[in-house]
Amino acid sequence: MNYPYLQQFRQSLVEWFHQEKRDLPWRNTKDPYKIWVSEVMLQQTRVDTVIPYYHRFIDKYPTIESLANADEEELLKMWEGLGYYSRVRNLQAGVKEVVEKYGGTVPNNRHDLQKLKGVGPYTAGAILSIAYDLPEHAVDGNVMRVLSRVLHRTEDIALPKTRKIFEEAVEQLIHPEYPGDFNQALMDLGAMICTPTSPKCLLCPVREYCLGFMEGDAEQLPVKTKKTKEKHIYYDVYIAVNDGKVVIERRPREGLLANMWQFPMIEKNKPSDNTKEAFELSYNVKIEKILKENFFEQKHVFSHLIWYLRCHLVEIEKTEKTPESVRCVTLKEMESLPVPVPMIKILNFLNQYIFYSWE
Ligand code: SF4
Repeated sequence: MNYPYLQQFRQSLVEWFHQEKRDLPWRNTKDPYKIWVSEVMLQQTRVDTVIPYYHRFIDKYPTIESLANADEEELLKMWEGLGYYSRVRNLQAGVKEVVEKYGGTVPNNRHDLQKLKGVGPYTAGAILSIAYDLPEHAVDGNVMRVLSRVLHRTEDIALPKTRKIFEEAVEQLIHPEYPGDFNQALMDLGAMICTPTSPKCLLCPVREYCLGFMEGDAEQLPVKTKKTKEKHIYYDVYIAVNDGKVVIERRPREGLLANMWQFPMIEKNKPSDNTKEAFELSYNVKIEKILKENFFEQKHVFSHLIWYLRCHLVEIEKTEKTPESVRCVTLKEMESLPVPVPMIKILNFLNQYIFYSWE
């Protein structure tokens, strides 16, 4: 790496961090388990959102053993609202491995850590540098953005092979005495100053050593090709009522929102399709009365997928033979189950506007 300001950059960055770092609950610990939990929560989720979840989660599962032994349904409930539920399943699988293989001590080397379920190069580097003070890289999209600018690198950060370039760069740049602080400083700089659009270069502690700033094109970096187009899926959602209870079903064990509970959803080829018959056939029910058609609409964006949901309130005839994954519960009972965010929005709407007047 041909970068002339290596010493000055790492020094200024760490000094700035010591003065300006954000006061975050996982920064008051060196416990690798807690740092692991925080890093998993922070993937694709904003810091402000994570803080209350982190407190509740650590109160509930204060030790690695308590998480390893946690009930899956209860765990999903604790994670409800954070999204990307495979993260918490992988976290528990990884934690179980640590308890079984390493007697509950989180490994202190990259080789063993990265073999654990859900632990990639970034999470491993964060645990090793922050909890164990080891000079290990922790490179994510934020760090690649900051370093593209500082080092004036123009490789496409959407390509997997580019990460290696930045990992090697961090190995050289990292502060040998404060490796955890150095990695966290890069994260904070990316979050607070060197933001994706309009970086605040005039406030930046490393401006004097930033090649992108010197070249005058920092804002055009990093180079990132567009990701593949999202898929759009249209669903009718049926709030099917019988005797004060609603029909809900459990999603499959694998894939998106695995094992979570939802109202019946019928996919449509186009938004105007009528799905009533498909609903009756799929759930072996008979619609007696349509109480409110299309009472609530919402769009829910996943990483590569957008759901468009149109909700209908219907009264159904009681049936003996429903699919195995289906249950009939009160809204109150449904609230105690793990339910994904789009369903929580429907539940809130029902509680506020529909059942209020319907009961
Ligand atoms: Fe980012 Fe500007 Fe600081 Fe360079 S000077 S690291 S572009 S904020």
